[in-house]
Order: sequence, then structure tokens, then C-alpha cells
Amino acid sequence: MAKKSVTVVGSGNWGMAIATIIAGNTSRHPEFEDTLTVWMFEEEVQHKGVKRKLSEVFNETKENVKYLPGITLPEHVKAEPDLKKAVMYADVLIWVLPHQFVARTVQNMGKIKEGCVSVSLIKGGLELEGGKLGLCSDLLRKLLNHEVGVLMGANVANEVAAGEFCEATLGIQDKKYQQMLVKLFDCRTFRVTAVDDIPGVELCGALKNVVALGAGFCDGLEYGGNTKAALIRIGLQEMKLFIRYFYPEVKDATFLESCGVADLITTCFGGRNRKCAEAFVKAKGAKGWDQIEKELLGGQKLQGTLTAQEIWPVMQKHNLCDKLPLLTTIYQIAFEDRAPWSIVKLPSGMPHSA
Ligand code: NAD
Ligand code: 13P
Repeated sequence: MAKKSVTVVGSGNWGMAIATIIAGNTSRHPEFEDTLTVWMFEEEVQHKGVKRKLSEVFNETKENVKYLPGITLPEHVKAEPDLKKAVMYADVLIWVLPHQFVARTVQNMGKIKEGCVSVSLIKGGLELEGGKLGLCSDLLRKLLNHEVGVLMGANVANEVAAGEFCEATLGIQDKKYQQMLVKLFDCRTFRVTAVDDIPGVELCGALKNVVALGAGFCDGLEYGGNTKAALIRIGLQEMKLFIRYFYPEVKDATFLESCGVADLITTCFGGRNRKCAEAFVKAKGAKGWDQIEKELLGGQKLQGTLTAQEIWPVMQKHNLCDKLPLLTTIYQIAFEDRAPWSIVKLPSGMPHSA
């Protein structure tokens, strides 16, 4: 059987980290072609005092000096800045872009192979479509017209790239792809569990970024561990309630996978959304989100603020604000000048079991 060719679409912090994992597997398992192509959005960077193209520096040094500095990827990872060339021969496409760039990227990519399958690692990109909450994987499925799975988990990119042990959850509907995709991601330091609950996996990945903003607000106010733990617990309950409102079939077990409680915990302690939200509170209104993102993330992108803006009109339209006081408070602190300390003034007895 012909070997499967794999392309990672996106070369940010997580795109490069997951490329280290996938590249280990493409060279280990005979069903994959060794070479791993990464589509790299071209940018100019300063390298050793000279202005260079990011993809050229990567192909020479195997280091993405802007998005994952200090990590050398295997020799068989190749950066391709031409999107059409990067995707045209792929049997498997791994999507790892900040969600705001997805639609434009798909529209520019030209022809792809018949029988191609995709996995989305993108957290966010929710949209209300005729009363139904659409997911980023739905958008990809519609635009690509092929099977799309999702992979989410407690996976802070720098820790994964450093080879620290963690887990992830693969959501895939069509069983015929499951074994091949688990083989593509799973290794000793990155353990993958497959489930057939795509909306549960993907919505946990998107919503935990909003709860992590709340954790950052607590850190900005210098509250302790008990408060953050309470916020994580309430956040998980509200995630569950929100998800079940739109997808009642989502299973309880999904929330206990890496994509659920584990990702929520790691993001509330070590993520970029948490970090920027802490800075937002400490700036006391003097800095907006764009400025904080630029100053603290050096080109990396926040997803939680965009997701909060995506779910807010959905919550309003479906009269969910009273039932989701934490998510409501987080949105209002982030975008409506509500006082940050209101994060600990939630109505008593809330929330309710989901
Ligand atoms: P990132 O935050 O590092 O974002 C920067 C990326 O955006 C770069 O690859 C850059 O080239 C690209 N970009 C900038 N402008 C662009 C444009 N106009 N068109 C296309 N691309 C453009 O990216 P990331 O950390 O790899 O995040 C991608 C997704 O993975 C997000 O949804 C994120 O939530 C998720 N994720 C991130 C982590 C993490 O720890 N970084 C972990 C798990 C999941
Ligand atoms: P941040 O985008 O907040 O860094 O979250 C990373 C993540 O998704 C870890 O699983």
C-alpha cells in the first residue's frame, strides 16, 4: 500500500510542537512517508542580525526561531511556504492555525487529494448557524468535503516540545481512520485516547480558554489556590451546561478525558490566555487585549478572548446568561469594563448540576 503523506497546516507554537511528535511517528511507522511537510505562513524575522525569511531559516536550522525558539526539529521536517504545494499531495492534513485564519487559508489552498482526511487541533471558531452551534471542524468539513476529526488535550506546546509526558484526546467519527490517526500522534510521551465524541472534545478545547481568562483575572487580583480551584470547578460545570444545551448527546466521560478537566487545569495554570488575563487586570484598564497580546506573546495569538466574543451573542440569544454566571462575568470583565473582583461575586448556590 502507498505510504501516507502528512502535512501540518500551521507553524505557530503548537503547530511546531506537534510536528516534533508527528515527525517521530512518520519515521517510526512504515505506513507513513518519512518527510513531514509543514505549511509555514511566511514572515520576515531577524536572524543573527540579518532580515531573513522564516521558512528559509527553518529549513537551514530546523528551528522555528519565532514560534518555538530553542527546539530543533528532526531533519525530515520541511517547511513549505507555498500553501498549494504544501497540501496538494497530502493524504492527511493536520490543522493547527489560530481559528481566525482558517476560512481564508482553506479558500486559498487549491486542489487536494481524493481520499484525504483532516484532523483539527484548533481551539475556537464557534458560530451560530440557524440555531445550531457550528464548530471549526464543521467549517473544515464543509469547505474540504472530507472526514475531519479533532485532537485536543492538556498540551501546552512548549512542554510537549520539551518531551514532557502528557495525554490528548482524539475525536473521530469514522472508525476506519481511527487506528491510523492514533498511530500518527501517539508515542511514549504523548498518549492518545480515541473517542467518537467530536463536539464534546472540540467544545471543551474552545471553552476552557474562556475559563482560563477568569483564572488569569484571579491571578491578577492575587487570589490564592482555593479561589482558582473554585473557578475551575464552576468553569467545568458551566462548560458542561453550555455544551449539553447545544449537543445533549455529549458524554460525561468526555469531560474526564485529557480534552476536558486536564486541559482546563493546565490552561488555568500555564497557558497564554491566563497570562494575558493576569496582565489585563494588572494594567487596570490602561491596556487593551491587542496591546497585551502583542507585548506578551510576540506574534502568538490569544484564542480565549475571541471565543468569549463568539459565545456571548449565542448565550444572549438562547437566554443562557443567568445559567452561566461565570462565563457571563468573564465576558463582561473582558469587554464591558466590569470590575475584575466581580469574578468572586457569583450568585450563591450556582451553578446547578449539568
Ligand atoms: P500561535 O498562537 O503561535 O499563532 C501564530 C501562528 O499564526 C503562526 O503560525 C503564524 O504564522 C500564523 N499566522 C499569522 N498570521 C496568519 C495569517 N494571516 N494566515 C495564516 N496564519 C497566520 O499558534 P498555535 O499556538 O500553533 O495555535 C494554533 C491553534 O492551536 C490555536 O487554536 C490554539 O488554541 C491551539 N493550541 C495551542 C497550544 C499552545 O500551547 N500553543 C496548545 C494546544 C492547542
Ligand atoms: P493557551 O492558548 O492559553 O496557551 O492554551 C494552550 C492550550 O490549549 C493547552 O492545552
